[in-house]
Amino acid sequence: MYKIAVAGTGYVGLVAGVCFAEKGHQVTCVDIDSNKVEMMKAGTSPIFEANLEELMQKNYAEGRLNYTIDYQSAYEDADVIFIGVGTPELPDGSANLSYIATVARQIAESVIKDCLVVVKSTVPVGTNDKVEQFIQDFLVNDVRIEVASNPEFLAQGSAVHDTLYAERVIIGTESSWAKNILMDIYESFNLPIVSVNRRSAEMIKYASNDFLALKISYMNDIANLCELVGADIQEVAKGMSFDERIGSKFLNAGIGYGGSCFPKDTKALDYIAEQNGYELKTIKAAIDINNEQKTILYKKARNRLITFNGLKVAVLGLTFKPGTDDLREAPSLANIPMLLDQGAEIFAYDPVGRENFEKVYPEGENANGLIRYVESPKEALDNANVCFIFTEWGEVKSLQPSDYKTFMRTPLVFDGRNIYSVKDMEANNVEYHSIGREATK
Ligand code: NAD
Repeated sequence: MYKIAVAGTGYVGLVAGVCFAEKGHQVTCVDIDSNKVEMMKAGTSPIFEANLEELMQKNYAEGRLNYTIDYQSAYEDADVIFIGVGTPELPDGSANLSYIATVARQIAESVIKDCLVVVKSTVPVGTNDKVEQFIQDFLVNDVRIEVASNPEFLAQGSAVHDTLYAERVIIGTESSWAKNILMDIYESFNLPIVSVNRRSAEMIKYASNDFLALKISYMNDIANLCELVGADIQEVAKGMSFDERIGSKFLNAGIGYGGSCFPKDTKALDYIAEQNGYELKTIKAAIDINNEQKTILYKKARNRLITFNGLKVAVLGLTFKPGTDDLREAPSLANIPMLLDQGAEIFAYDPVGRENFEKVYPEGENANGLIRYVESPKEALDNANVCFIFTEWGEVKSLQPSDYKTFMRTPLVFDGRNIYSVKDMEANNVEYHSIGREATK
């Protein structure tokens, strides 16, 4: 059993902390946000993730999990400190390491015994070396500090499951001391562990995320060509998926990837390459395709309608994918400002993303249009002139093709997630435009 501190209680830090407690370790989660800390102590998760709240409540009640803003008390006698703070994108595309630096400084000033610092956040290759040096430069007490890399691969929406049953755990260490501690912590998870050096571990994270982003952009590129040549991207993807070298996952074409990771990690790797005098052409292409893909349906719809001024627009789904309340880089955020600018009257539905979206676009008049939030997909469709599907929530998928005909004023649907068969929509007299497939006749 280790005494573990975790810096940052976002998707990565909180889920890691809770899962370590679940495996019997003594865990203190640290955040700078006192509201979040109070909320977590009261048993409420600040993020929407399946099973997270139950495990938080259980481990808190059983005394293995605590939350604090007092980093000093959490770090001073920890055996291991995991860092899971954000590394968002700076305007030049590089990763903002200021949150990591702050935690490093706080650790240096707090620790009073030997301690392994483990960076879980996604950081550019070489950052772990710098963090180790930084901590050593600011150390107050004469203790041994070493830094290890343990990048995180969870997907939002299934974060707890992905942590407890990860396909692999990557540990990047520079000594057997560090390696043994991490092997020990992960032993009870019973997962495949890949032990490499720190720089390889850092690169594995970027290379993996960017490969997935590339796969999505590749399918979107092919989808756009499919439309031009009369092929159907879903049939194409199905045919491709039987090839084990390709695999069946991440073959869905749509309106582009979002979230806090793929957009920033593609730009960060591109930046790292540039800094090293290398042009990463594949990743540049993935970024460009994704930027265009996000507004592809808006452009189609605008051509079809001339203007959105005064039209009632149903928007189904706001989050960047189902199962999360995260809006970071969501396609909805690229489309809704343009619709509002054009004078659209938006009726938006999302089962969990509404609260976060309202912080950016409060209910009522916005720009030249207005936005209202509704409680059900059918309410959004009611008397609408046009509908956009941005997120494939189960609640949205449960709408039948006939519902669009029944509830909308004019059944005109732009589906960014290819939820329906074109034939079914055609049979129900719905004008249907999707990605990489022919529109209804
Ligand atoms: P997040 O923004 O959800 O959470 C970061 C948390 O850190 C916030 O609660 C913030 O208040 C807190 N924080 C900031 N400074 C702090 C400090 N000095 N001490 C303690 N807490 C502090 O971030 P996230 O989505 O969990 O991502 C964290 C890292 O993990 C990023 O590098 C990200 O790229 C990586 N990652 C994220 C995911 C994902 O799906 N979200 C998956 C894998 C890896």
